[in-house]
Amino acid sequence: MSDAFQPISANDRPRFTEIASFMRLPHVPEGDPRRAQVEIGLMGVPFDLGTTNRPGARHGPRQVRDASALIRRAHRAHGMYPFDLARCADMGDALVNPADLQDSLARIAASVAALHAAGTVPLCVGGDHLITLPLLRAAKRDQPLGLIHFDSHSDTWDTYFGGWKYTHGTPFRRAIEEGLLDPKRCIQIGIRGSMYDLADNSWAEQQGMRVVYIEEYWRMGPEAVAAEARRVVGDGPTYLSFDIDAIDPAFAPGTGTPEIGGYSPAEAQRMLRGLMGVDFVAADLVEVSPPFDQTGGTAMVAANLLFEILCLLAGRVAARRAG
Ligand code: MN
Ligand code: MN
Repeated sequence: MSDAFQPISANDRPRFTEIASFMRLPHVPEGDPRRAQVEIGLMGVPFDLGTTNRPGARHGPRQVRDASALIRRAHRAHGMYPFDLARCADMGDALVNPADLQDSLARIAASVAALHAAGTVPLCVGGDHLITLPLLRAAKRDQPLGLIHFDSHSDTWDTYFGGWKYTHGTPFRRAIEEGLLDPKRCIQIGIRGSMYDLADNSWAEQQGMRVVYIEEYWRMGPEAVAAEARRVVGDGPTYLSFDIDAIDPAFAPGTGTPEIGGYSPAEAQRMLRGLMGVDFVAADLVEVSPPFDQTGGTAMVAANLLFEILCLLAGRVAARRAG
């Protein structure tokens, strides 16, 4: 693999130096001729007009870039060097218009559709969870996608505030309505928290989505839940979405809608490591809100989970190349 797509080594330049990019990868912005060679494109999506409570996720990409300077090049448990398996780069940020929600969704979809069109697998960092709707629009294939969704919320509510359909609580309902996802190949992991109504998630269940509430997660444990996720999505093309509020707020308080009683970062690592081999076509990690992340710990958790996800994508890129 060419050195042009290797991260800056901390043995050459210490981690606190240079301009922050995701995992110290080369910054390959729009218009850069190297774009055509990138196989996994990390992209920030600095948008939080979909938040219904605490805002700030628009600042997530910058904070995760900074925290991701800690990431080294080898994943010991997988025995893998992901940056050798796939050419990875920081593609900069998706375009947004902070004065217009719908215009932002169109700009985000266009920014990420350009990656798909170039054969690049997008790994996006939000931003609030509404960004997953334009990211799924951009990922659209001949067939609806499967979904592995880590979250404390189902995000399948219909409307808020008297009929408004676009918030970070609605993206997966909209995506199923738009035919972007196959609900029977969708699994949500870690759903918990107080509810508006005991029937809040009945729509998701009626569609055939597999909803793993936190109590079932407690009984099964991370490895069995990962196996269940692989069973639900099968061999078909699949999207991975990780809401940082899936993690217990003891570890990740810097988010818009925290819910106690979640899994730990280590348990999330165990689940993610169990997903190697799934046919992921794109992924995101969302809802890091730096203004509520006073210790920087939430961004640190996010950066390390981002590395776990990147390894899944790199394994997939390498497998596709091998045919
Ligand atoms: Mn969410
Ligand atoms: Mn959530």
